[in-house]
Amino acid sequence: MTDTIVGIATAAGEGGVAIVRMSGDGAIAIFENAFRARKRHPPYESHRLMLGDVLDAGCEVIDEVMGVVMCAPHSYTREDVCEIHTHGGIAAAGMVMRRLIELGARPAEAGEFTRRAFMNGRIDLMQAEAVMGVISAQSASALRSEQRMLQGGQSRFLRQAQDELTALLAGLEAHIDYPDEIDEEEALAGLREGLDKLMDRLDRAIDERGARIVREGLHVALCGRPNAGKSTLFNALLGEERAIVTDIPGTTRDVLEGSFQLDGARVILLDTAGLRHTGDAVEQIGVERARAALDRADVALLLIDASTGLMEEERELMQMNLPCPCAVLLNKEDAGESISVETVQALCPDRPVFRLSAQTGEGMDRVHAYLRGFVRKPQELTLTHERHMAVARQVLERLKQAREGLSQDQPLDLTAVDMHEALYLLGRITGDSVDEQLLDDIFSRFCVGK
Ligand code: GDP
Repeated sequence: MTDTIVGIATAAGEGGVAIVRMSGDGAIAIFENAFRARKRHPPYESHRLMLGDVLDAGCEVIDEVMGVVMCAPHSYTREDVCEIHTHGGIAAAGMVMRRLIELGARPAEAGEFTRRAFMNGRIDLMQAEAVMGVISAQSASALRSEQRMLQGGQSRFLRQAQDELTALLAGLEAHIDYPDEIDEEEALAGLREGLDKLMDRLDRAIDERGARIVREGLHVALCGRPNAGKSTLFNALLGEERAIVTDIPGTTRDVLEGSFQLDGARVILLDTAGLRHTGDAVEQIGVERARAALDRADVALLLIDASTGLMEEERELMQMNLPCPCAVLLNKEDAGESISVETVQALCPDRPVFRLSAQTGEGMDRVHAYLRGFVRKPQELTLTHERHMAVARQVLERLKQAREGLSQDQPLDLTAVDMHEALYLLGRITGDSVDEQLLDDIFSRFCVGK
């Protein structure tokens, strides 16, 4: 017998409708007590939306609603689930929820509906986490990647890894148990090869930068001397007047952030203060923040004012070592050229150099095309959640230990122990080997009502 939980599934605030959701053995009985359909009588047909009212203890109408019963096991949690769609806003859903609690339901904890879906075997742990990912996705490409995980893409990949590791382990243990019957050299050669293949695939699945770009977006830092046109380019890319554009050098003292969508991927622009040595204390802070922004960036755009001659600082900037790829943009081409692409290219042969006018928009397509090269399409086999990558790294560690042990002729029992641990850790990702602590940790990050 499970207790019956209730939560408001929609976001708080004013809107057209709010949904109160209930799950558990008592859900249908409580629903039938609270809800009176206009045209039907209990027992209600499963999965049919009905117009009706929710009544309080004195049979007064709390709200006119739509109600639906979803009988187990064909529901989100695999338990009996009932939903009541009230009018939006805080009052109606709140009062309906109170009424259901009065009748015996208890308020759900964060993520408890999804936790039940996992406990009842409807989805695995990665899929449960993908539900949260779908809710918090910030772009079409992040959504696509979470959807793929929700549909079990990454789970299948990891299950295959589990199966292969189990088979390798079974082979090894057969050899340990019956050394006379199984040829050692043959058994170990297959094991070495199998472990190498597995490690290679796992290693490729952990692509931290790629994962962060899909999940959060591509971080692009705009840098250059004050007055080069960074704020103008920032606004042009964002398509709105966000940054203050002035012709007094050193006005962008803080790091401004703005985001836009490029082919369904999110791009986060960081407009940094001009990078130059400065005596002004406030501006100095801005310069330091600009350096910090560069450390966070996946790609940098270095802006040069091409209408004036090249300054010593700009030569330095072009040749500066940056922690990420960088393109040099010769801005203000509409104002007449005093620096050529060839001159700049000779100074920094490894960086692409484009001409641009941030003001007229000339050459913007080249900037877009350059950035497009960095927003990768999510791959089926890459892990995108921080937790999964962290555990996968531990799995790799264990497999490496197993592999090294084999090369160093350590006792095979030890290799088997490492492989058992790797297998256990893989289960921490898919949910085969979890404990309450891990589940609490994961689901407490969910919203209530999901
Ligand atoms: P920041 O200090 O690097 O952020 O530079 P701003 O964006 O504030 O621009 C400095 C000055 O250059 C402003 O007067 C802009 O209008 C001007 N400017 C920026 N881009 C262009 C451009 O492509 N062509 C011309 N002619 N002027 C520009």
